[in-house]
Amino acid sequence: MAQTSVRENLLRIQGQIASAAARAGRRADQITLIGVSKTHPASAIREAYEAGVRHFGENRVQEWEEKRAGTEGLAATWHLIGHLQSNKAARAAKLFDSIDSVDDLAIAQRLDRARAEASITDKLRVLIEVRMAGEETKSGMGFEELSTAAEKVRELPWLQLVGLMCIPPFLEESEQIRPYFRRLRDLRDELAGKLGLALPVLSMGMSHDFEVAIEEGATEVRIGTALFGSRAVK
Ligand SMILES: *Cc1c(COP(=O)(O)O)cnc(C)c1O
Repeated sequence: MAQTSVRENLLRIQGQIASAAARAGRRADQITLIGVSKTHPASAIREAYEAGVRHFGENRVQEWEEKRAGTEGLAATWHLIGHLQSNKAARAAKLFDSIDSVDDLAIAQRLDRARAEASITDKLRVLIEVRMAGEETKSGMGFEELSTAAEKVRELPWLQLVGLMCIPPFLEESEQIRPYFRRLRDLRDELAGKLGLALPVLSMGMSHDFEVAIEEGATEVRIGTALFGSRAVK
C-alpha cells in the first residue's frame, strides 16, 4: 500500500469523526483529535500541525523532553497520555498542558506541588485514567478507588480535574469495545453527580476504535497510527 501523507490521513479521519458524530446526533466540533506522536520525530508533529492538528499526545516524559525543541513556536496543546512514574511527575507538570493519565492519588499530589513551585500561573489540567478490565490493561485507577481519589484530586489547588480517560483491552472487533466506552461514560456521569462537578471530558478511542468511542460520547480521541502511520517496533 502506498504511503499516504499526514494531511491525507487527517482529512480521512476528520471525515470519519464527522460521520460518527452525526450518527450519535453530536457535532463534530465537540470532539478533539489528539495526534499521538510518540516515536515519531518533531518533523512529523510539524507536518500534522501545518495540516491543522492542534493537540498532541506523548506517552513518555523523556522522549518529549528530547523532541520538544523541534516543535518550538507551535501553538499546540501538549498532553501526556502514558503512565507517569513518580520521579518524573515534577518535570511533567512543567512540560505538559494536560496530564490525561493520572492513575494514582500520590501522582496527582506530586503534580500539584510541582505546579505550585513552577512559575506557571494556570492550573494543570488533568484526567483520571480508569482501569477498565482487571488484568488485561496495566494502568489506570480501579473502580473502587476512583470516587475517593477524585474527591481528593479536585481539592488540589493547582490541578483542574476535567474528566476521565481509559484504554480498554485490545479487541479486534471495535464493536466488542463499545461496552467499555459506555462504562466509562456511566462512571463519569456517576462521579460528576457524586462530586457535584462537571466532568465534561471523556478521552477514549484510538486508531481502530475511535468511531465507536465517539458514538459513546468521547470528547477526545487519541489517534496515532491512523494519522502518522505505523510505529517502528522497538
Ligand atoms: C499509543 C497510544 C494511542 C494511539 O494508538 P494508535 O492505535 O496508534 O492510534 C492512544 N492512547 C494511548 C494511551 C497510547 O499510548
